[in-house]
Amino acid sequence: MSESPLNKALAASLIGICAVVSLPAHAWGYEGHEIVADVAQAYLTPQARQRVDALLAVEPGATLASISTWADKHRSPTTSKWHYVNFDRNGDCTYRPKINCPKGRCVVAALNKEIHRLTASRTQQGRFKALRYVVHLVGDAHQPLHAGFGDDRGGNRYQVHAFGRGTNLHALWDTKMIQQIDRNPSDYAARLVAAANGQPPVTDTNPVAWVESGCRIDHEAGFYPPTSCRPTTWRAGSQCSTSDCCRAGNTWQPC
Ligand SMILES: [Zn+2]
Repeated sequence: MSESPLNKALAASLIGICAVVSLPAHAWGYEGHEIVADVAQAYLTPQARQRVDALLAVEPGATLASISTWADKHRSPTTSKWHYVNFDRNGDCTYRPKINCPKGRCVVAALNKEIHRLTASRTQQGRFKALRYVVHLVGDAHQPLHAGFGDDRGGNRYQVHAFGRGTNLHALWDTKMIQQIDRNPSDYAARLVAAANGQPPVTDTNPVAWVESGCRIDHEAGFYPPTSCRPTTWRAGSQCSTSDCCRAGNTWQPC
């Protein structure tokens, strides 16, 4: 299928729409992906909605939210690296394909490929599969630890104690924070749409900008809890005090 203006509009619309979810919800477990999809659904233009509905018709009853977690449930050795990109902790967060995305195996290259397939695949089934990936990977690209540092596997190896339980920094962002705020994805999405207050979706549709932004968030002071007293207590948006660290360290048993 050729890249008609309508299909290009659909791709741009989905990307721009999903990009609006740069509000304080960066937690991209299943709930997070469904939230991203629900927000995208809320901002679809009539034109894009028509195209999305036509693709969703491939799977009766499907919604953007219901297909948003498919890519995580169907990971393979080939696609497992499509969900993130690694940066150098000591670098400046500039995305360099040869270094950050060897052999095109990272979320940026995967997104660009699937965005192309969304418009170029010859079959409806092919375009539907691309939609599953685009809806999912746009979410992943906005989780700062999916644009994290390879040395700790995007925070997966950084143990923390949060909300009364032991976890790691990546899981904290993927699921724990969002569950702490609202466990209902539809309700959470409605909050975000309301908070956006009618503002149009973010217009930067370049996945490179999203992952570079995520990497810069990872570098922000306090994003990583102090290392002097791990495992430790971490509170969203603030560094824990030394006494908190030690108190938590006394009660938390490392895995
Ligand atoms: Zn993923």
